[in-house]
This record gives sequence, C-alpha cells and structure tokens, in this order.
Amino acid sequence: MNNVAVHPLLKEISSYFTLKGKKVYLVGGAVRDLLLGKKAQDWDLATDARPEEVKSLFRRVIPTGIKHGTVTVLFKGYSLEVTTFRTESDYRDGRRPDKVEYAATIEEDLSRRDFTMNALAAELPSGRITDPFHGTADIKNRIIRCVGNAEERFAEDGLRPMRALRFASQLGFTVDEATLHAIPLSLGVTAKVSPERIRDEFEKIVAGGKPGAAFLLMEKTGLLSMLFPDLSRCRGVEQKGLHRFDVLDHSLLSLNYAAEKGFPQRVRLAALFHDLGKAVTKKLDDNGIWTFYQHERESERITGRILRQYRYPNTVIDGVTLLVREHMFHYEENWSDAAVRRFVVRVGEENLKDLYLLRFADAFGTAGVEGPADFLLPLANRVESVLSQNKAFTLKDLAVSGKDLMETGIKPGKHMGVILNELLETVLDDPALNTKERLLEIAGKINGRYIPGNSDGN
Ligand code: ATP
Ligand code: MG
Repeated sequence: MNNVAVHPLLKEISSYFTLKGKKVYLVGGAVRDLLLGKKAQDWDLATDARPEEVKSLFRRVIPTGIKHGTVTVLFKGYSLEVTTFRTESDYRDGRRPDKVEYAATIEEDLSRRDFTMNALAAELPSGRITDPFHGTADIKNRIIRCVGNAEERFAEDGLRPMRALRFASQLGFTVDEATLHAIPLSLGVTAKVSPERIRDEFEKIVAGGKPGAAFLLMEKTGLLSMLFPDLSRCRGVEQKGLHRFDVLDHSLLSLNYAAEKGFPQRVRLAALFHDLGKAVTKKLDDNGIWTFYQHERESERITGRILRQYRYPNTVIDGVTLLVREHMFHYEENWSDAAVRRFVVRVGEENLKDLYLLRFADAFGTAGVEGPADFLLPLANRVESVLSQNKAFTLKDLAVSGKDLMETGIKPGKHMGVILNELLETVLDDPALNTKERLLEIAGKINGRYIPGNSDGN
C-alpha cells in the first residue's frame, strides 16, 4: 500500500504549508493507525518549515515544545503538533538527546524514530507514503522492530524497551527477535529513565487489551525484576485449594480479565497488585498447606510503595490501596443488618462497585474460568436494601452535630470526636436511634463515663 486516505482537514491545513513552498507530512502513530484501519489518536505533523515560520502561517500557535522544534497549532477545533524535521544526537545518559538539530529531509527525520511501524510518513495532501525502513511490511506482518540496530537505539533512550512491550500488548504484535534480544542487554540504560516516563508506558500497558502479555515479556527480558521486583517475587509462589496458578500468573490472569471486560484502570491496577503480599507472608502450616495470613495488609503496603515510587497522584494511590486492602471481603447470609452497614462504612459506598469488579477478576484468576464467589449477588442485594432504609453511614448523617453537643456543655476537641464516633457506632447497630432526642441522651451518658482531658477515657 503506497497511499493512505487523507482527512479533509489535514488537506486544508497542508495548503498553508505548500502555498509557501514548504513540505508537510503526517507522521508516527497516526500513519500506523491508518494502515491498521484504526482511528488515529492524535495527529502529528513533520515539516521543513522552522517553528517561527509555522507560527506565522496560523493564527493560533502555542510553543509547546519549542526546544525540540515543536509547536501546537489550533485549527477549527483541532489541535495538531507540528515538529520541524530534526535529528537527535549525543544521548549521553540514555534519557534525552542533549542536542536537537534540524534536518533537511523527512527520511533523516524518520531515522531517529523508535520502531519501523512508527517511522512512516504520509505526504500531505497526497497521502503518499514514505517508508525507508519497511514499516508497512512490518505492520502487515504485525512485527515490532527497531529502526536500525536495536542495541544502539536502546542505548540512546532506555524507555524504548518499555515502548516495544507496550505496543506489543496494545496492538497484539510480536517483538522481532533482535529487538527482544537487545532488551536484557540494555537494562542499565532503562534503569536511568525517570519514574514518570516508565509510569506513562506502564499505564498504557495496563489500560490496553492484553496487558498480561507485556508483563510476561518483561519477566523474560529482566525488566520485571528491575522495575517491579515485588511482582517478579510472586513467580513460583504456589497456592493450594481452588487455585490453579502461582501468584504471578494468577495476578496476570486477573488483570487480563479486568482488561477484557473493560473494567476501570483502578480495578486493573488492584487486580495486578492485590496479592503481592503473598510472597512475604507465606507460611507452611502443620498440615503442609501454604497460608498467607493477613496478606492483604502487606499487599496494601507494597502497592502504596510502588505507586508512590512511580509518582502516582494521591487520589489514585488511595483508591487502589483501598481496593487491595479490602479484596478479601466475604459475606454470610446470617450477617445482621448492622454487620452489612459496617461493611459499607469500612469500604465506602462509592467504592463498592469497583470492589465487586475486583472480586470478579480475582475469581477468574483463581481457576481460569468465569464465576465470582456465589455470595456476591446476595451481599449486593443486602447492601442495596440497607442503603435504601437509612442514610446514617458517616458522622455527617447523624441526627446530632458537634454544635448540638456543645449546647449541652460538651467541649469541642478530641473528647467530642470520641463521643460522635460512638454515636455513629450506636446508629450503625440500630438506625432507629438516629433521632436528636435519643442521641443527645446517649451522648450525655457517654460524657459521664469520660473525664475530659484524661486520654484513657476513665
Ligand atoms: P500512541 O500515541 O498511540 O501511544 P504513538 O506512536 O503516536 O502512539 P507517541 O508517544 O505519541 O506514540 O509518539 C509519536 C511518535 O514519535 C512515535 O510514533 C515515534 O515515531 C516517535 N517517538 C515517540 N517516542 C519516541 C522515543 N522514545 N524514541 C524514538 N521515537 C519516539
Ligand atoms: Mg501519539
């Protein structure tokens, strides 16, 4: 295939360049995705016009990456990254090029790109393909291959091995032998890449269709033990009972299931990390059976440490660690309504759905077949009915406030906090007590038991 169909807007934009005698190409992932018959994520253009010239061609231009020759053009509601042809040189630390130089031709520009499938350009407005590294053939054969010598390309930028595995799992492609072989030889370079850049590729792997494949390749090439040693430690941690797989395969199966079903990213991360603590809590009991007592606590701790290491925002860290901590939840039909209410309070109403989804993924990863724990539906029904009966699940929902308590002479501070929490416990046990009159009466009794200022509460 030597041509791709060009979007009318791209044709229109290209005329601004060609009228001034400049060349402009659609490049990178957009061309790859067009050849794969997929909708492009975003449009990247390459041109021989210098950034200042591009600025003069359009009314709204933002100098987003001017150091690298990139500006963003805003045009009819679209936003396009336009980069002047360039080469890169002097990757002294394997992280970023120290020097960016403008290049004369599109071929030169393509030669700095990572993989043959990403080193394609479609001339605008014609759509004629420039393909100096046979990227179209590799796309047809679904192969990821470095442009030129893989080891040299990885030595320039240690993120590229992660990108190779990310694309492999996202697109369902195979990594070419020589490219795969160069990954273990480049671990020292990858070790220097910033945690943020690693995280962005990791995020895309987890968000993709078959993330487990990327983690197996990471294991095979040594990336897993370097970047996620806690996961790699789960290999060979055998489990008995219903479990058919070791902890690593179990985690990857759970993640794959979550991905296949389109579960949210937070559930996917929890599916991957929920059993990390098993590697450190495993003990053989008197009957020769492996136990993992309170592994979810360890899993929570390790998950938090990994997410912090990779500079995740606190909201994500809190959301994922909560699911990991609570993933062992269970239910029995003889639970009282109070027990159901306590469960809701512990997990948080807004987290229930994701916790159920995690259980579906976990159950799939246990035996490799579908079917969550039988209690999930009855529990969900009980939760629904309890939620519809009554809304006193947090301090805010209590029929009395701190202000009400102050009016009865209770001093604000830690002491009042203790009383409010006891009132909430009381109401969780018996929602009928959630009236101002009853709660003030109970608060008075509790207050009598405490002597303010004595932290023992005696
Ligand atoms: P997607 O946006 O779908 O993840 P993409 O191929 O567009 O995939 P980007 O990260 O947006 O990936 O990069 C755009 C293009 O820039 C790539 O197609 C590739 O040609 C080039 N590129 C990006 N990162 C690198 C890198 N680390 N080394 C060499 N070339 C790169
Ligand atoms: Mg892109």
